Amino acid sequence: MKKKPCGIYVHIPFCKQKCKYCDFLSAPGNSDCIREYVSVLKREIEGYAETAKDYEALTLYFGGGTPSVLEAKQVGDIVMTLRSVFDLSSLEEFTIEVNPGTVTLEKLKGYRAAGADRLSVGIQSANDDELRLLGRIHNFDEARKCIETAREAGFENLSVDVISALPGQTVEAYSKTLDRILALRPRHISSYSLIIEPGTPFFEEYGEKGMKRDMLPDEETDRRMYALTKEKLAEAGFERYEISNYAIPGYESKHNSSYWTGREYFGLGLGASSFVNNVRYSNLRDMAEYKKAPSVRITEEITDEAGLMAEFMILGLRMTAGVSKKEFKRRFGRELREVYAREIQKFTDEKVMEEDGDMLRLTDYGLDVCNRVFAEFI
Ligand code: SF4
Repeated sequence: MKKKPCGIYVHIPFCKQKCKYCDFLSAPGNSDCIREYVSVLKREIEGYAETAKDYEALTLYFGGGTPSVLEAKQVGDIVMTLRSVFDLSSLEEFTIEVNPGTVTLEKLKGYRAAGADRLSVGIQSANDDELRLLGRIHNFDEARKCIETAREAGFENLSVDVISALPGQTVEAYSKTLDRILALRPRHISSYSLIIEPGTPFFEEYGEKGMKRDMLPDEETDRRMYALTKEKLAEAGFERYEISNYAIPGYESKHNSSYWTGREYFGLGLGASSFVNNVRYSNLRDMAEYKKAPSVRITEEITDEAGLMAEFMILGLRMTAGVSKKEFKRRFGRELREVYAREIQKFTDEKVMEEDGDMLRLTDYGLDVCNRVFAEFI
């Protein structure tokens, strides 16, 4: 039987310190904690021996948290265990997320030796005051050196994350950040507006009841930053291929693209989510419980066909290429135009959506108002 393509996500839930805006599943952990976690993670991977036989992994992604708290040997051990269980012979991309405050040349060379060929570097801002405000553990000079070190270690496929609409940030300050990040010549940039998440220190200060709420850029400024990102990155040769992601052609993230096109994936590690055989499930989120039972899975939802079709549309329309009508028919046995006749008519009339041969996609304006569009598909 032909093996099914899949992605593999490995969650490393440790950070040197918690950034003030972050609500990801991560916490500081000492080296003993990390060592124990790696051995539990390997146990979890081994538990997939039977299921994994039907799959071949095309992408591998170490995310977090801060995967670069791992020593190169630990990454190598995890990859070796993965190889003993999953078919990695057709791997097309292996990304590791890196925090500039945690790397050395030796470590990055080790990651390269373990097979990683892409780094996603969390820089977020090129302004040291903003980096301090965010609670990042590095300044911009360290971020710049991290990129140089990555190149020296043999990584040329480098992605950088940047956040806009920070407290007190002006359009001019953000513009400077973009210039300085572009000067680093990454191949891929992910750009997000800051979201103030409940439960974070930022929520206390800048949330609905926060005393400093007025320091957040207003909606108009936020939109100008968003427009500036599109403009500057286009000038620098980047193409927007997803709402928040830009790449020099050929350097689009294969792993993230596979989420948006509905490929199956295995999420390994604390709280990681998976999508296997049309079922979404996640691992335990409590570290003590996960360590006791790394193979316990919580089914998030058993999605019916209508739900799967809506999800196909919402994820696919995030990409500038849009969704393929043929692929929809192949998956669901029905014509996309029949199932969503009303929505397509309405959004095409409003110039939010357009058809181009087999593809149905959002226009540039449609991407700007995508949340309104997605709400109609739910
Ligand atoms: S490094 Fe990333 S995951 Fe860790 S606390 Fe900061 S934003 Fe969150």
